[in-house]
Amino acid sequence: MKFAYDDQNIFARILRGEIPNKTVYENDHALAFQDINPQAPVHVLVIPKGPYMSLDHFARDASPDEQLGFMQAVAEVCRISDLDDGFRAIANARAHGVQEVPHYHMHILGGRPLGRMLQG
Ligand code: 5GP
Repeated sequence: MKFAYDDQNIFARILRGEIPNKTVYENDHALAFQDINPQAPVHVLVIPKGPYMSLDHFARDASPDEQLGFMQAVAEVCRISDLDDGFRAIANARAHGVQEVPHYHMHILGGRPLGRMLQG
């Protein structure tokens, strides 16, 4: 990996309890919380507790237990958030993906029709 994990990023600080968050769900390997600037009625961020920068970094280097814990958190967020009518999961990565926070996170968006996947 060309980049190094920055342990001062905002989600690392949330994981250390230095910044408050509105937690939706937590297990040993993942934390899910409300996005501070929601783009839909449901906008939850699911993050691993380990120091992974992006989806590809997590998929390559996280242990099977970490990956399972993360996906179980995604499932719980969908169940808790009443997303039977559907949702979108987004994982932005690096510059072309316009990733602002360099700690892997999956956006779970829903609660209304979300339109087409990409604009522009
Ligand atoms: P990205 O562009 O990196 O995929 O998305 C980062 C997300 O983190 C944005 O949707 C932004 O609103 C959210 N965010 C940034 N800072 C904070 C924060 O301090 N607390 C919470 N809950 N969300 C944040």
